[in-house]
Amino acid sequence: MARLRNGSGGFERSCSFCGKSADMARRLIAGPNDVFICDECVEVCRKILSEEDHDLSAQFTGDIPTPKEIKSYLDLFVIGQDDAKKALSVAVYNHYKRIANPAKEPDDVEIEKSNVLLIGPTGTGKTLLAKTLARKLKVPFAIVDATTLTEAGYVGEDVENILLKLIQNAGGNIAAAERGIVYIDEIDKIARKGENISITRDVSGEGVQQALLKIIEGTIASVPPQGGRKHPNQEMIRINTTDILFICGGAFVGLDKYIEHRVVQHPMGFGTEIWDRRERSIKELFNALHPDDLIHFGMIPEFIGRLPITVSLEELKREDLRRIITEPRNAIIKQYQASLAIDDVKLEFTEGAIDAIADTAIKQKTGARGLRAIVEKMMTDIMFEIPSIEGNKRVVITRDTVEKSEPPEIHQIQKSA
Ligand code: ADP
Repeated sequence: MARLRNGSGGFERSCSFCGKSADMARRLIAGPNDVFICDECVEVCRKILSEEDHDLSAQFTGDIPTPKEIKSYLDLFVIGQDDAKKALSVAVYNHYKRIANPAKEPDDVEIEKSNVLLIGPTGTGKTLLAKTLARKLKVPFAIVDATTLTEAGYVGEDVENILLKLIQNAGGNIAAAERGIVYIDEIDKIARKGENISITRDVSGEGVQQALLKIIEGTIASVPPQGGRKHPNQEMIRINTTDILFICGGAFVGLDKYIEHRVVQHPMGFGTEIWDRRERSIKELFNALHPDDLIHFGMIPEFIGRLPITVSLEELKREDLRRIITEPRNAIIKQYQASLAIDDVKLEFTEGAIDAIADTAIKQKTGARGLRAIVEKMMTDIMFEIPSIEGNKRVVITRDTVEKSEPPEIHQIQKSA
């Protein structure tokens, strides 16, 4: 209670936190609606906040994983994509260093953050890389989809909602969120459409890039605490985005054509004959990417300027898909093996079965994204039948199980006495 009845029947002010009356407290500070706080409670709050800040800086000055350590961790879950792994490991390491060693004097050299742009076909591991980083790092992390964003005033989400996700993932700790990492997927979907954008307002493209630009380069943003649209008179969470690292990813379908066009016309250091004679892989073309190509694609120059590190991801080949099925720590096959082991089933896949799964994904043109669906579809009947068969079993999935939906081989295992 903020007010106590005094001897003369009136009300006397008191601290809303500890209950101390006005004459017991040295100072009593008034807030709205008869709320008060005493000097001692202010001091307690200050201590709590400074401890939180201290914890946070301890977290960053402690164990900074080296780029090699970060990459080794990514290797456990993501197959191939070495260039992307290296670039991300270095960017994240620098991010940590920068946070742990802020410029103290105005004249000190300030290490600027290096946001990253990941370019590569769908299903090649862009989101997986971001998610895996999140697990390794001790900073708050959020994954958002650029297609849901619109410029303020249009239907869709305000760009600031990206930050709300980060704040939520930081458990509401704004100071931690201010040092977090955000992965923005499908960034290519907010490219300007067509050349005549200056005549008609481009709701989903340039305006969103402009709005995102401010957040990416560093600003004090106001975030509506409940998400959704901003309303006048609504209380806002204020968050400084200067130290937030942004990783953007997109497939940029068609970008290779712009690069090819430029490289063939203006070889810029490449032997023209080499470029003309050979079939160029998308990865090769993306390696020759120039910021102008992205501008041609519809990204605004200021936005590109804020993503200084551009890395391309390779299209996954059959051998990569085979490895993805079997190798990563949480490979889909390992998940089914672990699940069926609980039912006393030893699940095996022949080499032919693994080839057939990879080939089906290639035919479907879904990259690694389709692998799970292919295996899940095939395993449904097996998962339905197997637990009802008595005894210890060895179940072997063959090429025919994958290609012709034939039942797997089932062998009873004799228990050794
Ligand atoms: P993108 O974001 O590039 O479209 P994702 O990272 O969402 O693709 O990939 C979809 C799924 O495919 C992932 O969850 C993962 O299971 C698998 N996958 C894709 N690329 C790889 C890779 N390089 N290594 C291991 N698994 C991968």
